[in-house]
Amino acid sequence: MVHDPHYVDRVLDTAEKTRVRFDPDTVTSPKTYKAAWMAAGGVMEAVRAVLAGEISNAFALIRPPGHHALRDQAMGFCIFNNLAIGACYALKTHGLERVLIVDWDLHHGNGIQSIFYDDPRVLYFSLHRYPFFPWTGGPEEVGQGNGEGYTVNVPLEFGCSDADYANVFRNLLLPIARRYRPEIVLVAAGFDIHHADPLRSMKVSEAGFARMTDLLMEMTRELCGGKLVLALEGGYDADALRDSVAAVLWELTGMSKMKRDEMRELEDSQFQTIAKTIEQVKTIQRKYWSDL
Ligand SMILES: [Zn+2]
Repeated sequence: MVHDPHYVDRVLDTAEKTRVRFDPDTVTSPKTYKAAWMAAGGVMEAVRAVLAGEISNAFALIRPPGHHALRDQAMGFCIFNNLAIGACYALKTHGLERVLIVDWDLHHGNGIQSIFYDDPRVLYFSLHRYPFFPWTGGPEEVGQGNGEGYTVNVPLEFGCSDADYANVFRNLLLPIARRYRPEIVLVAAGFDIHHADPLRSMKVSEAGFARMTDLLMEMTRELCGGKLVLALEGGYDADALRDSVAAVLWELTGMSKMKRDEMRELEDSQFQTIAKTIEQVKTIQRKYWSDL
């Protein structure tokens, strides 16, 4: 559904080999092929179970990550594009017409963007440090052909906080999603925006991840019966990853420990720090999303 069959064969050919280097960052071990296969399958299963109504939401705790993987190329630790596969699975097998992918990983998900760049059935919304690896994701990249207007890139400077992320969700993602009316929302959940992450780029805390999840749950309840599937992307501090994933899971299971009213007050009082970025993206996207 997503990858070039020759590329899939190249991945499977790495089975039981000590080491195959796909790119400077992306090196396989003997079982990488199997982990990658199960990661993609894990997202598919999560999507299936949520669409079937067996569960209301899901978090696929998978590795390797996926959002940099291109149709015919591994990149940036990613082998298969797990979420793109999950989205195509929802479109083709379950007959959906509109899938929204939200990507809060530190890096731009160039793979997801390129796979759906001309496809209006998948709206890709990414917040990421820019300019930064993989050097794509400028705000003027909005899709092409039938997909023009269905890619939304929010370029962030380093040092963004819980309030900045939530304000982008409230002021850009929400109005666009309300107009798009997704039938399911998939999330590239990267934890490399945590303040303790060794990449030292953003200042998001456990409460910030909880708040983003809370906003996505509220949004999906309003728009698509709460159908929400997250999949693990980056995140390189083991303790921060553990605690942040736990904070997300408390939200998903309805046992929130996050102080929503305090978070909202903070967001309102700190709006100015992200206002310029929001306005810049609105100016570009207003052509496609008149509510902005
Ligand atoms: Zn990342």
